[in-house]
Amino acid sequence: KTFEDLGLDARILKGLSTMNFRKPSKVQERALPLLMSNPPKNLVGQSQSGTGKTAAFVLNVLSRLDLSDQMRVMPQALILAPTRELARQIVGVVQIMGQFLDGLTIGTAVPADSNARPSKMEAAVVVGTPGTVQDMIKKRIMNPSALKVLVLDEADNMLDQQGLGDQCIRAKAMIPRDVQIVLFSATFPAHVYRYAGKFAPGANEITL
Ligand code: AMP
Repeated sequence: KTFEDLGLDARILKGLSTMNFRKPSKVQERALPLLMSNPPKNLVGQSQSGTGKTAAFVLNVLSRLDLSDQMRVMPQALILAPTRELARQIVGVVQIMGQFLDGLTIGTAVPADSNARPSKMEAAVVVGTPGTVQDMIKKRIMNPSALKVLVLDEADNMLDQQGLGDQCIRAKAMIPRDVQIVLFSATFPAHVYRYAGKFAPGANEITL
């Protein structure tokens, strides 16, 4: 199996080729066909960091964007991460893989940016930490009405930190009901598995 076999857009394949990945990793090979299926279906995936999960969900996110003039200023994908450092790393991956997509805009929503916070989040892809994202939606800085994909990365780390799991639930309650929900976690102890079941109902599940 190659990335070409996965039905990715030529411009996305070109961005991917700059990363010099020889072939899809196991999690990419298993998750991508499920993630990219239409109609979109929720996915709950088990994946340690280092296995290539970031590329898997970023490739799906990029594949689903509408970057026409009217739409490129609307958040269409929201990626939630437990720390600002991880959020910034994810932004970097979106930038590299999406570098050949004309009009791609990426926004970061993390606590450190609160002084320089824009009055409007006009980016097709928003990556952030749950508290800041939830606050931006509540204050109408970010309009969630055109969201198509919600990704929750490192769900187990999220739930280890006081309040973050609840903030993700609150953010989800403010976005359209029909968004595709993608949840990755390195481990699935019972409480994480229960949370995943509520957060991403009816999901396809993959374990490595
Ligand atoms: P992640 O699991 O998303 O934290 O990714 C871990 C590392 O694996 C990153 O440095 C990626 O650049 C790299 N990586 C992801 N997918 C592949 C692939 N298909 N082939 C080689 N390296 C990869």
